[in-house]
Amino acid sequence: MAELEQGLDLTQFDSVRLWIRASGPEPQQYIRVFLRHYDPAYAGSGKEADLKPHEVVYDPAAQALPVEFRLEQFMVASWWVQNHPLPVHLLGPQLDHTVYLTLTTPGTVQPGLHRIELEAAEFVGVWVAPAQFRLAIIAVWVFSMGGFLLWDWRRSRRKLDQALRGKRELKQANARLQAISGEYEAKAHHDALTGVSNRLGLKHDLRLLMRAQEELMFPLAVVFTDIDHFKSINDSLGHDAGDEVLKQFAQCLKTHIQREDLLARWGGEEFVLLMPLTTAEEAFEVAERLRKLLAEQTWPSGLTVSASFGVAQARRHSDGEAGVEAAMRSADQAMYKAKREGRNRVVQAPAEDAAAS
Ligand code: GH3
Ligand code: MG
Ligand code: MG
Repeated sequence: MAELEQGLDLTQFDSVRLWIRASGPEPQQYIRVFLRHYDPAYAGSGKEADLKPHEVVYDPAAQALPVEFRLEQFMVASWWVQNHPLPVHLLGPQLDHTVYLTLTTPGTVQPGLHRIELEAAEFVGVWVAPAQFRLAIIAVWVFSMGGFLLWDWRRSRRKLDQALRGKRELKQANARLQAISGEYEAKAHHDALTGVSNRLGLKHDLRLLMRAQEELMFPLAVVFTDIDHFKSINDSLGHDAGDEVLKQFAQCLKTHIQREDLLARWGGEEFVLLMPLTTAEEAFEVAERLRKLLAEQTWPSGLTVSASFGVAQARRHSDGEAGVEAAMRSADQAMYKAKREGRNRVVQAPAEDAAAS
């Protein structure tokens, strides 16, 4: 019984190779090969006759060695089933607990010496069963896909993080750059000595205002003013004293104009004033007031400082910046006229000049 317990599970193999030599009296004999299966359900007695026989029958003379049978070719011997009635589920082949491989002659044979020699038997199987192989392939595929998705997700995550970090750094760099360029722009648009706008700043501010509220700018008055005999201040008291006068002059203009007026140092000791919603007549009054204020100021070294003014007006806002530039030329000419007429005075440009602009 103990040896019956140690059966061989042949389901892990595909075929069996047999090296069999047979001899006997003519005519040539067939050989029957049995794989006998032990199952306590019908072979509890332990007798060999009760082991289920799986059979193939073949002619050894017709086969070269070794002869190979696929295990699925082994069929349960019908004569055995007739003597061993089995429940339906046990009728078919069973090879998971094979205990014997036996060889016999057919039932009826010629009298004489019959020899059957088994030199070797070899069970052959593929490493994995096709179903298992398919499962393994699917598992590998699923695993690889999962791995790839995970890797791809991590890579995308890393890329996203990098992009976000890059964007943040770019934003910070931009902010720094904007702050720096803001400083530069402020410097570029202002006169370092007097602190008021320079030509560039005035053009920039004017353009911004024209774009944002052009209709609220007109009528626009332009006033040009230039310090009288400024060169003689430099000559008599030195350049630094001249600078002080320039600073005070700009400060005086700045504190006595309205908030919406634009003031700029045009160059040297010449300044320009742009006054939105102001007519030439009103600007003339303002210039006159400023001229008087300058005369009342206390200047360095007891100086007396005066300036000449030229006033003009840009009437039509449809003329845009070109209209303003024309009015500036008219105001400049009026200012030179004031110089020619004796300085320390305000001259208004002829109305047709401004209108023609
Ligand atoms: P006018 O009454 O005709 O205007 O005579 P002016 O002497 O004021 O005019 P002019 O153009 O002959 O001289 C202007 C002087 O202003 C010459 C220049 O050296 C001086 N100047 C220009 N810019 C500055 C500056 O930033 N600081 C100082 N101190 N002087 C300056
Ligand atoms: Mg001057
Ligand atoms: Mg000048």
